[in-house]
Amino acid sequence: MTSPVWHPFTQHGLNEAIPQVDRAEGAVIHCADGRSLIDGISSWWVTTHGHCHPRIAAAIADQAAKLDQVIFAGYTHAPAEDVARGLIDIAPPGLAHVFYSDSGSTAVEVALKMALGYWHNVAEGRRVSILVMEHSYHGDTIGAMSVGERGAFNRAYAPLLFDVVTIPFPAAGREQATLDALEAACAAQPAAFIVEPLVLGAGGMLMYPPPLLRAMADICARHDVLFIADEVMTGWGRTGTLFACEQAGVQPDILCVAKGLTGGAIPLAATLATPRIFAAHRSEDRARMFFHSSSFTANPIACAAAAANLAIWREEDVPGRIAALAGRLTAGLARLSPDHFTGHRQTGAIAAVDLKAGEDGYLSSVAPVLRAFFLDRGILLRPLGNTIYLMPPYCTDAQQIDRMFDAIAEAGARFAV
Ligand SMILES: *Cc1c(COP(=O)(O)O)cnc(C)c1O
Repeated sequence: MTSPVWHPFTQHGLNEAIPQVDRAEGAVIHCADGRSLIDGISSWWVTTHGHCHPRIAAAIADQAAKLDQVIFAGYTHAPAEDVARGLIDIAPPGLAHVFYSDSGSTAVEVALKMALGYWHNVAEGRRVSILVMEHSYHGDTIGAMSVGERGAFNRAYAPLLFDVVTIPFPAAGREQATLDALEAACAAQPAAFIVEPLVLGAGGMLMYPPPLLRAMADICARHDVLFIADEVMTGWGRTGTLFACEQAGVQPDILCVAKGLTGGAIPLAATLATPRIFAAHRSEDRARMFFHSSSFTANPIACAAAAANLAIWREEDVPGRIAALAGRLTAGLARLSPDHFTGHRQTGAIAAVDLKAGEDGYLSSVAPVLRAFFLDRGILLRPLGNTIYLMPPYCTDAQQIDRMFDAIAEAGARFAV
């Protein structure tokens, strides 16, 4: 029987296997047919501590029995208040206000609207354009696609995407070109610069060092260009610190978080802003309020999961687990032969290599072949074209990491050209 389900980022015409998953625990997901798979990509970059963390699962169950949902315009509840305070406590200094939404894409839309709303309210909208970095990904809604890399992902929708100014990616040796381009673009008085700090995820796990992030933020500050840090993927310890911005001492004007905000258990996102962004919207004039909402803004069950995640960060040795995992990834990467792989790179708990496949880019035909190869070996990996990366939950043990690197090495021997 064919399923009516239309899957995301899936070419149904390739007839790839679509396993049915029944349950998951820690770093392992269990399929209906009895197979179990090591989740090498944290179920698309969201599962931080591991699947079904008991504290998060219990918080969700308790909250669901108490207050499932309530309108958030004009009403509030303890889980939302607690999480907002908890976020401000741990976020880079300077951020003081928390606006909830429900996905990374909407957190980005909210950030862009806050930036435009700010300039609209303080300067009659004299600054409207957005600066972006080449190879960026910020989500799949129209605004988020507009500030992301243009390509096969969004060619059909190009007529709806707004114009942006693109700064080149700071590849090793070409850093100054990026800074010069940013400086020149800032001189034209844009509204904001949006960037993924330290690691460009969907763009191919492209990495750049903290001093460069700092230099970009400094340029923006000098030109009064709002600095939007999209930490939807890099947040929650993924780059080795709670937020990637910490490594560069960067204080963004606006910060987007989602994915690991609930430990990856349930959708929730937040956009954090500085007092001046909030103040520009605060007035007795109702026309200056921030015009954004969604039905499930600050859903109490999702907020309870986020509160449990924050408690885990406060009370458990999460940084220790991340450091141990990062060490295992470093050792694993060193095993991958330069005969088969190039571009060995790592930031915190993200490791990536490019398979010498003779063909690169996201639509490289090697990607579905690799997916099936890893699935056959009981491993959930989803290469970005010929880029194979690991982004495992922090509970993944040494043996599981070894099994994944064994499979990647085998794939290199089999598929490199
Ligand atoms: C995943 C991602 C998004 C989009 O988040 P969704 O929850 O999938 O909408 C935005 N920005 C970055 C950097 C991401 O990695």
